[in-house]
Amino acid sequence: MNPFDLTGRRAVVTGANTGLGRGIAVALAEAGAAIVAVGRSDMGETREAVAATGRSFRAVTADLGSLEPIPRIVAEASEEGPVDILVNNAGTIRRAAAIDFTEDDWDAVLDVNLKSVFFLSQGFARGMLERGRGGKIIHVASMMSFQGGIRIASYTASKSGLAGLTRLMANEWAGQGINVNAIAPGYFATNNTAPLRADPERNGQILGRIPAGRWGDPRDLGGAAVFLASPAADYVHGILLPVDGGWLAR
Ligand code: NAP
Repeated sequence: MNPFDLTGRRAVVTGANTGLGRGIAVALAEAGAAIVAVGRSDMGETREAVAATGRSFRAVTADLGSLEPIPRIVAEASEEGPVDILVNNAGTIRRAAAIDFTEDDWDAVLDVNLKSVFFLSQGFARGMLERGRGGKIIHVASMMSFQGGIRIASYTASKSGLAGLTRLMANEWAGQGINVNAIAPGYFATNNTAPLRADPERNGQILGRIPAGRWGDPRDLGGAAVFLASPAADYVHGILLPVDGGWLAR
């Protein structure tokens, strides 16, 4: 038996249209999972990439900036079969000095990165608990789950909060067969980090601190996602798994 095999599992990935979410969705499909992609933008490229693996793909259109669509997301994602894996990847960021930060900068980030993540997890966990066959919930945390950062107050609050929620959910649900863990990506080349890469000084500072000497590629996250989604992680609960080119080792 291959402990990383996801054949027969159904995985929901939020924000799967681009960036890390697409990379995770494709990696889970390559490992055998059927994919339900949740997001507000066109999923065409992810749909094609998943189709190329031979696995099924379904898109559920929803904006995760409020809780309103969550019951519908859970219902639609489960229409073709129960959901075994939830990857909370969708996330947003606002950049401004702490002294200038607005309430809107705060709410826009906390609502997507923390509030919706909690209630979406609750929604899918209810189904997993009712069915009694467990499941895997994987959050996408950040280096800002460990560090403070600069100019990203609400993002740091959300990702540090997510570290605590990962542990809380693991504590409550581990005994019922649900594994709750997080991946903590380092610096990856996606829309999220475009302003950093466009600034030669910040780009140089960041690259100079990454022992691997390069930005991460979304494909670099696939193995960690498959591991945490698979039977290989059945006894792994409440961890934040850094995939960071060595950033935290410095
Ligand atoms: P990205 O390319 O900006 O992707 C963010 C994803 O979240 C997109 O699919 C985006 O959809 C979706 N999203 C944002 N707000 C949403 C909303 N209100 N409703 C539904 N979907 C929404 O950036 P990324 O780097 O792949 O980010 C993915 C996750 O990784 C985020 O949680 C981010 O914090 C985390 N992360 C990234 C890095 C990095 O270095 N890139 C490092 C650590 C953690 P749209 O395309 O429609 O906006």
